[in-house]
Amino acid sequence: MTEATATPAAAVRVHNLWKAFGRHLAVAGIDLTLPAGKFIGLVGPNGAGKTTTLSMVTGLLRPDQGTVEVVGRDVWRNPAEVKARIGVLPEGLRLFDRLSGRELLAYTGRLRGLPGEEVDKRATQLLDVLDLAGAQHKLVVDYSTGMRKKIGLAAALLHNPEVLFLDEPFEGVDPVSAQTIRGVLERYTASGATVVFSSHVMELVESLCDWVAVIAAGRIRAQGPLAEVRGAAATLQEAFLELVGANGRDAGSDLDWLGGGAR
Ligand code: ATP
Repeated sequence: MTEATATPAAAVRVHNLWKAFGRHLAVAGIDLTLPAGKFIGLVGPNGAGKTTTLSMVTGLLRPDQGTVEVVGRDVWRNPAEVKARIGVLPEGLRLFDRLSGRELLAYTGRLRGLPGEEVDKRATQLLDVLDLAGAQHKLVVDYSTGMRKKIGLAAALLHNPEVLFLDEPFEGVDPVSAQTIRGVLERYTASGATVVFSSHVMELVESLCDWVAVIAAGRIRAQGPLAEVRGAAATLQEAFLELVGANGRDAGSDLDWLGGGAR
């Protein structure tokens, strides 16, 4: 088999994944194959099931049904083994925020079983690259939203995972920090690692990702290389609106009382 026709190894394989909260079906039979070494965007509207899916894929939330393999291992049969090889930046990240940024990385590194010296070296480099060196001795509780995302990212990268999962990594992050995060992630994927991140900001996904999965109402509507998912549409945003069936909806048509001066 030539390299061009070889099927790329999958970083993530999800089969028939289901999750309900009470009577509400959050994830309704998802199948996903995400190739290794790519920058992958999981996109969908609010409430589509992105966080629920990522939580099940990373071993944080038990599925009702279905299987998840990450780096070729079943997440729910070998959780410790899989967790050692992935990094996760969850939504609404809860950090040990009475530690300073530097202490948090030292603690994370020891939890990951890395030698102290190596943790020190990596922490210094990550703090530097993420522009947190000046705030390394400040308590994380006093960090801004963007700084929290960056220290969370540093903690998720510290053990050099094979796959990095990020839930809305750019939410609440200013353009300068977003550019910094972006640079780190691009460098990380260029070395062969995989990034899977969720977002509802299409322009961001379009400019960053080479592979996209579109989710709406708990189901996958499309998945594949960015160009394939975009198809004939001019932008990913346009293709996305078609896929989720929102194109042509006049969002303001029922709000005839809004504006116009009448109170
Ligand atoms: P957003 O972009 O707004 O963060 P999302 O795509 O990440 O949305 P999820 O957070 O996965 O969506 O939620 C999917 C659906 O499941 C939503 O309708 C949500 O209300 C529901 N849901 C999620 N978590 C819970 C929970 N713990 N209990 C009850 N319902 C939940």
